Amino acid sequence: MTLADQAPAAQQVTTHNPVDGEPVGHYPLAQGADVEDAVRRARAGATWWEDQGFAARRAHLLHWKSRIAAGAEELATLISAETGKPHGDALLEIMLTLGHLDWAAKNARRVLRRRKVSAGLINYNQHATVGYEPYGVVGVIGPWNYPLYTPMGSISYALAAGNAVVFKPSELTPGPAVWLAERWAEAVGHDVLVALTGDGATGAQLVRSVDKIAFTGSTATAKKVMSVAAEQLTPIVAECGGKDAMLVAADADLDSAADFVVFGAMGNAGQTCVGVERVYVVDTVRDDLVARVVERVERLRIDGPDPHYGPMTMPSQVDVVRDHVDDALRTGSAAFGGRDSVAGRVVGPVVVTDVAEDSAAVQHETFGPLVVINTVASLDEAVERANATVYGLGAAVFTKDKGAATRAADALRAGVVTINSVLGFAGVAALPFGGVKQSGFGRIHGADGLREFCAVKSVARQTRRAALNLLTMERTDKDMHTVARMIPMLHGRAKPPRN
Ligand code: NAD
Repeated sequence: MTLADQAPAAQQVTTHNPVDGEPVGHYPLAQGADVEDAVRRARAGATWWEDQGFAARRAHLLHWKSRIAAGAEELATLISAETGKPHGDALLEIMLTLGHLDWAAKNARRVLRRRKVSAGLINYNQHATVGYEPYGVVGVIGPWNYPLYTPMGSISYALAAGNAVVFKPSELTPGPAVWLAERWAEAVGHDVLVALTGDGATGAQLVRSVDKIAFTGSTATAKKVMSVAAEQLTPIVAECGGKDAMLVAADADLDSAADFVVFGAMGNAGQTCVGVERVYVVDTVRDDLVARVVERVERLRIDGPDPHYGPMTMPSQVDVVRDHVDDALRTGSAAFGGRDSVAGRVVGPVVVTDVAEDSAAVQHETFGPLVVINTVASLDEAVERANATVYGLGAAVFTKDKGAATRAADALRAGVVTINSVLGFAGVAALPFGGVKQSGFGRIHGADGLREFCAVKSVARQTRRAALNLLTMERTDKDMHTVARMIPMLHGRAKPPRN
C-alpha cells in the first residue's frame, strides 16, 4: 500500500482503467493547506537546487533519468492502466521523455550561463552581460493524454534551469506524477519535484501560489488559468489544443502519406494534441490517397489482446467525437466507419471526405479517431484552409518538391511543421515546441524551452569613466553640443529604400 492508497475516501481521487473500469489507484485530493504545504516544501527545495549550480544539477538529473529508465516497465504499466493506451505506446512515451530530460540536463549550462554581449562603440566603458535566473517554484499542470511526455516537456526544462516544480497532473492520470516524485526522492532526496494530486480546483489554487505556470490542456481551461495568473502577473506558458492539418500535394509519396494519416489520426485513439484531424489533398491524387487510407484503416485492430489503440480515456470525450462524426456526415461522405463506430468507450476509426469547412468537425478539436479528408485545387489552397481555424499547433506537408514544402511551411500559421512525416519533431529535443493563436504561447523543449523557465537578468558593469560622460548632473554645454552633432552622424545617414 502506498501513501496515496491511504487517503480518506471523501478527499481522494480514484482512477479507473478505461479498458475494464477497474480501480487503479487512490490519491489525495489536495486542497487548501495541502497546496500551500506543497509549495512551501518546493520553495525550500528551490533554494537548495539553485545553489547546486549547473554541473551538480546535471548529475542529479541524469541520475534521476537512470532511475526512471530502470523502472520503465513498471511506469509503462501504470500509464497504460490509467489511460487505456497499449503498453507499447506507453513505452514509446517514456523513451521520448527520457530523450528530452537528457538534452535538458546536458544543455542547460551552455544555453543559460551568463554571456557577454557587445555594448557598442558609444558605451565602450560598459561590460554588458545577460544571465538567466530560475523563477523559483514552477507549477506544472498536465493533461491525461500523454501523462508523462507532455508535462515532462515542462518539468525537465524547468528543473534543468534551476527551478523547483510542483506538478499537478490530470485527475484522470495522477499515477505517473506520484511515481516520478518517488523516483526523485530516491535519487535526489530534496523537495525539488513535488507531486500534488487533485482536480481543477487544486490546479487553480496552485496558480495563485507559484512563480511561473506551465499549463498543458484545453484552450478553455488555459483561459481560466490565465485569468487567475493575471491577478499576480504570474507568467505562464500555455500548451493548448489543436486542429492539425496534413497537406498532400500531387507529387507526394501517397503510401507514406497514407501511413502517416492513419498513424497521426488514429494513434492513441486520436487523443493527441498534434494528431492529424484534417487532410487537404490535391484533387488529382485525392481518390488514390483516400483508397490507401481506407486500406490501412481496415487493418486496424481495436479490440482483442493486441489492439492498435485503446478506449477513450475521458468518458465524456465519446460524446464530442459522436457529435463531430454526426456533424461531418451532414455534409460529407463516409469513406470508412460512421455513426455506428461510436458505440462504446472504444471508438472505431472514422474517415469522412469532403466535409463543409465551417462544420464543427473541421473547425473544433475532436480528440478522437475521426479524420476529415477534403479536396483542394492546389497546395496554396491547402495552406489557406489549414490556416482557417482558431488553432495553430502543428501542421504537416507531403511533397517531393523541397521548394514547395518550404514555401508551405513558411505560410502555415503553426508552431511546428513537419515535412513528409507527422510528429517527426517529438523526439528532436533541440526543437522548441508550442503553438500560435488559440493553441497557446511560449515554448517548451530546446534552448527556448530552457529560457522559458528563467527570468532574464541584464548586468552593465562600468569599467571606466566615459570620456563623454552624459550620466551626470554635471554635464556641460560643450557635452550637449557634442551630442547634438553626434545624433545626425550616428543615426541620420540611412537612405530611403530603393523600390
Ligand atoms: P483540461 O483543460 O481539461 O485539463 C488540463 C489540466 O488542467 C488538468 O490537470 C486539470 O485538472 C487542470 N485544470 C482544470 N481546471 C483548472 C483550473 N480552473 N485551474 C487550473 N487547472 C485546472 O485538459 P485535458 O482534458 O486534461 O487534456 C486534453 C487537452 O489538452 C486537449 O485540448 C489537448 O489538445 C491538450 N493538450 C495539449 C498539448 C500541447 O502540448 N499543446 C499536449 C497534450 C494535450
